[in-house]
Amino acid sequence: MNERHADRPVRIVVFTGAGVSAESGLATFRGVGGLWADFDPATLATPAAFARDPKRVWDWYVSRYVGVRASEPNAAHRAIARLERTFPSLLVVTQNIDRMHQRAGSSKVLELHGNIWNARCNACGREVDMATLVDIADSASDSPRCGCGGRMRPSVVWFGERLPEAVFEEAAESAADCDLFIAVGTSATVYPAAGLIELAARSGADVIEVNREETPLSHLADRVLREPAGEALPRLVDELELDPPTAGASLAKRE
Ligand SMILES: [Zn+2]
Repeated sequence: MNERHADRPVRIVVFTGAGVSAESGLATFRGVGGLWADFDPATLATPAAFARDPKRVWDWYVSRYVGVRASEPNAAHRAIARLERTFPSLLVVTQNIDRMHQRAGSSKVLELHGNIWNARCNACGREVDMATLVDIADSASDSPRCGCGGRMRPSVVWFGERLPEAVFEEAAESAADCDLFIAVGTSATVYPAAGLIELAARSGADVIEVNREETPLSHLADRVLREPAGEALPRLVDELELDPPTAGASLAKRE
């Protein structure tokens, strides 16, 4: 029988990567299609690439932004937002820059890698809505400039850049302090983000991995769902609503 701890609500962290957005019709990070198919993201998503050829990097992000803007949240994003209505303290930690969770209705989302909906000046840090730059400057011969003379860049974290410290700290604290940690569509290979899975497992949370393929951290999961996120998440959320996890108790122990 479940003995619910009355002193605090169940804490759930949902940690997501590119796979959660795959069914939104977005190209996953490793497979950007079309015009940019031949470009390796690792050669474009870096401060050095932007310094060398800002226009090229800017145009690549504009094409990604336009793709994101034209896509819609999918069944996985919607299921995660629905789960928050049952467990109001639920926190989403995402490696994605597409803002799909917020658009699906999730209210507490930590963006470890920033987001593509904003641009900021690389000199003074001023942030603007990406749309204001894309709609006026798509045929410009140079990447857009800030009023201060600095260059505008997408407000994302590039390879070789540090994650936003306060955001990562909050994610780590939540991972270490949750009852249930659900990792969705992440290859679990990019650190320090992938370390959140290890942290949650080490801290005694139940870990559920939803990913089509095995990952280097699959062995830490109490349960794995080898399905597309859009199929697995709605069912998992139904299940958690019918049979809620218990604060402080593991799923395995409840069986
Ligand atoms: Zn500026």
